[in-house]
Amino acid sequence: MLGEGILKGLAETARNFAGSFVSKDRLTTVEYPEERLPLPEASRNFPFLVYDGTDWEKGLRCVACQICEKECPPKCIYIDKSKDKKPDAFGRPQIYPAKFDIDISVCMSCQICVEVCPFEAIKMDTQYELSTDDRFGGLLLDRKELAKSNEYYHQIHPTEASEVDAKLAAEKVKVDAKAKAAACAAAAKAAAAAAKPAVPADASAPKPQGEGD
Ligand code: SF4
Ligand code: SF4
Repeated sequence: MLGEGILKGLAETARNFAGSFVSKDRLTTVEYPEERLPLPEASRNFPFLVYDGTDWEKGLRCVACQICEKECPPKCIYIDKSKDKKPDAFGRPQIYPAKFDIDISVCMSCQICVEVCPFEAIKMDTQYELSTDDRFGGLLLDRKELAKSNEYYHQIHPTEASEVDAKLAAEKVKVDAKAKAAACAAAAKAAAAAAKPAVPADASAPKPQGEGD
């Protein structure tokens, strides 16, 4: 019948309008910004850098390997490596990013930087209220602005963050076991060297001519 679709649509609208007075499920309008819908755990916007502990600078997991910088499709990550080293999450001395900037006006939220990072150092944020009237400076975020704690990561992506923690804890066990084995081997070598009979200092020295003749 001609116009049947329009009539069905009007009926649905009327049903929802009348139903919205009695059923909360039919109230689909959200009074933003006073009201906000909870974000799904898998939602993402722009990347941030994860740090452990309470000091963002000391705790950054990033070791400035620059893999994300190379793989980022629109090339909006800019990293400078440090000249010195600092302990990483496992206590091993590592270089760190002296500069780590992301231009979020260029970032396309593809998450490739997260996928390629071998150190679980960069993750996707869910924050979306980032508008600014400073088109260039305001959207070029430096490492301090990008740094967010592991606790924050747990708040926005609890399942993923727990899996990452478990993975890092298992890696730490392996690293500690390797360090312990190396320390034991070094101690055994030192003990073996100490147990070796001392060779007299002049035993191998050539005797002066005429001595003992
Ligand atoms: S999300 Fe994609 S575009 Fe944005 S910084 Fe990461 S790799 Fe680059
Ligand atoms: S965020 Fe990850 S991939 Fe990027 S430089 Fe740091 S450690 Fe490397």
